[in-house]
Amino acid sequence: MERILVIGASGQIGAEMASGLRQKFGLENVICSDIRPAGSWSEEGPFELLDVMDRTALNSVVEKYNVTQVYLLAALLSAVAEEKPELAWKLNMEGLFNVLELARENKIQKIFWPSSIAVFGPTTPREQTAQRTITEPNTVYGIGKLAGERWCEYYHQKYGADVRGLRYPGIVGSKTMPGGGTTDYAVHIFHQAVKTRAYTCFLNEDTRLPMMYMPDAVRATLELMDAPADRISIRSSYNITSMSFTPGEIAREIKKHIPDFEVIYEPDRRQKIADSWP
Ligand code: NAD
Repeated sequence: MERILVIGASGQIGAEMASGLRQKFGLENVICSDIRPAGSWSEEGPFELLDVMDRTALNSVVEKYNVTQVYLLAALLSAVAEEKPELAWKLNMEGLFNVLELARENKIQKIFWPSSIAVFGPTTPREQTAQRTITEPNTVYGIGKLAGERWCEYYHQKYGADVRGLRYPGIVGSKTMPGGGTTDYAVHIFHQAVKTRAYTCFLNEDTRLPMMYMPDAVRATLELMDAPADRISIRSSYNITSMSFTPGEIAREIKKHIPDFEVIYEPDRRQKIADSWP
C-alpha cells in the first residue's frame, strides 16, 4: 500500500495535488505537510508542520507514517526568488537534496519533483520548444530548476532513485491562490474581475506564455507517477504543454462575461522574467 507525503501541501499546486491524491489513495494514506498550516481541508487527513530543510524532522515524518512516495512541492517561485536569491537557492536545492537522499537510503520508493519552463532562457527557441534544447536560464529560479533536474537525473543513474518530474508551465486553478510566480496574473485576473471589476496586470498585454489548467496538471502528474518505471525514459523532467495565451486575450474573454471589466497594464520586474521564457 502506498503512503504518500506531500511537502508544500498548503501551496497553490500542493493543496490541489493533495486533494487529488486523497481521492485516489484514501485520506489516511496521504500525509500533507508544509511550514505553514493549511486550510481546514487538511484536517480531514494527516497534516504535519514540517520544514523540508530539516532533515531530521523529515526523516521522522517518513518513519512515523511509513511513507513510500514523496511529492516535493515546496519551493520559492520565480518572482520571489529574484528578491531572495540565497534563500531560494537554499530551499529549492537543499529541500530536493533531502528528499533525494531519502531515496538513496531506500527509505522511500518514489519521488515527484516538478521542474518548470523556467529552465529555458532567452537563447531557447521560443516556439515548439524541444525537450532537449538550449537551457541557459537567467533567473535565480530557473538556475535552481535546471540544477535540480541534473541532480534528479544523477540520483537516478547513480543510485537508481525512482524520481519523476514535469516542467510545469504556469498553472491556473480556481481553488488556491498562486505563491509568487510570473504567471500569477492568470489566476488573480479572474478574482479581481469578480471582486472589483478592475485589474492591474504586471505583464504587458501581449506577453504570451504557456499555461495549464490545474486539474490537467494534477492528472498529468498522477499519470506520470502511475507509469511503470521502465517506461520513464527521462528522469530530469518532461516537457508538458497545454495552451498559451496573453493577458490581453484573457481580459477580452472575461469582458464577454463582465462587460465593464477594466485592465491596466503596468509591467514590473516580472516582465523581464516572462520575456526570457518560451
Ligand atoms: P506555492 O508557493 O504556492 O507553494 C509552495 C509551498 O511550499 C507553500 O505552501 C510554502 O509554505 C511551502 N514551503 C516553503 N518553504 C518550505 C519549507 N522550508 N518546508 C516546507 N514547505 C515549505 O508554490 P506552487 O505554485 O504550489 O508550486 C509547487 C511546485 O511547482 C514548485 O516546485 C514550483 O516551482 C513548481 N511550479 C509551479 C508552477 C505554478 O504555476 N504554480 C509552475 C511551474 C513549476
